[in-house]
Amino acid sequence: MHKEQIAFQNESSDSKKKRLSNIISIFQKEYPSTKCHLNFTNPLELLVGTILSAQCTDERVNQVTKELFRKYKTATDYADLKLQELEKDIRPTGFFRNKARAIINCCKVLADKYEGSIPASMEKLIELEGVGRKTANVVLGNYFGIPGIIVDTHVRRLAKRLGLSDKTDPDRIEKDFIELVPENKWTFFSNALSDHGRMVCKARKPLCKICKISHLCPSAELD
Ligand code: SF4
Repeated sequence: MHKEQIAFQNESSDSKKKRLSNIISIFQKEYPSTKCHLNFTNPLELLVGTILSAQCTDERVNQVTKELFRKYKTATDYADLKLQELEKDIRPTGFFRNKARAIINCCKVLADKYEGSIPASMEKLIELEGVGRKTANVVLGNYFGIPGIIVDTHVRRLAKRLGLSDKTDPDRIEKDFIELVPENKWTFFSNALSDHGRMVCKARKPLCKICKISHLCPSAELD
């Protein structure tokens, strides 16, 4: 292990917060207009798109939802669908049987309990089928402007590489980030970290030599 990695491992919480604040400043210059990559025009579309995005790329979800959102506009439209019909519509996103069931059951509750609207509340959102904390935070942060830490596959990987969380469970990573990141930066930081993971800190081969935060990263490989 490099000297730097050992130093980062024994890092105090204050030093971690300072390092993170520097990372956020750099991200504000690198990814000033970072945002959710799913296409949507209302919270229902964002909710459905996020359920479909599990184990699937945003690009593929956007291809599927282009037609899906043209066909179905309201929670009742989805709630009234036959399972097989929705399965056919969303098949290319993978895990389509579970996703179709989740969307229909979730929309039945939205139609019956919330008159088809989407509740802007973590507690209420996570009661819906197919909606975990990540999906709820995507909707709260990117539509309602309520800060949320969104732990997607990129954020999970980078949390570890950057020595910001040693957890693997997304809900526990979210808790660690809540302690470290100022609340008004939660949504920005998650989206920017995800962008950094897509473009620079790639899963197979991180591009450390061009990484703007390499001096703040315990996993930097610059040799
Ligand atoms: S230095 Fe390398 S490992 Fe660290 S964040 Fe940048 S690309 Fe990822």
